[in-house]
Amino acid sequence: MGLGRCGLGTPTPPRILVTLKWNDFCHKLTTRLIKGHDAVCIEDLNVTGLARTKLATSILDASLGTIRRQLAYKGAWYRTPVVAVGRFYPSSKLCFACGDKNAALTLSDRAWACPSCGCVLDRDLNVARNIKREGLRMLAAGHADSRNACGQPVRLPMEAALAIPA
Ligand SMILES: [Zn+2]
Repeated sequence: MGLGRCGLGTPTPPRILVTLKWNDFCHKLTTRLIKGHDAVCIEDLNVTGLARTKLATSILDASLGTIRRQLAYKGAWYRTPVVAVGRFYPSSKLCFACGDKNAALTLSDRAWACPSCGCVLDRDLNVARNIKREGLRMLAAGHADSRNACGQPVRLPMEAALAIPA
């Protein structure tokens, strides 16, 4: 069904309305992230693989692929590096405080205490911190000389901005 059928005087079907609002939300979110930060670090999730698991509904509904694509091209537009941390990086199992890996962590553990240092960690916050740390490490490792002669930060060229591993 094309949008032409949603002309003046015709109520927009709820499903199309939800899609339009979701697309608008994605664009506003990705634009804000790219324009409001010097770099964006994301986890390189295997969205296609996740879609085949019991997480399929939430993964597909969230349109992670769409958000990632928008981050990539908007990062290039605004010269904001978008760094994708590899999908095999153990972002959830590493303790942000001490770096120890908790191999016994399961998907249902939303909060956990590190067996090594005792730090109590929220799963999602710990993942976000680890992704940020690893992404910035990757960025620094690839572009150590990202300051000009006056010591001011230099935005990376478009090719470097898309430092997304294949
Ligand atoms: Zn720890």
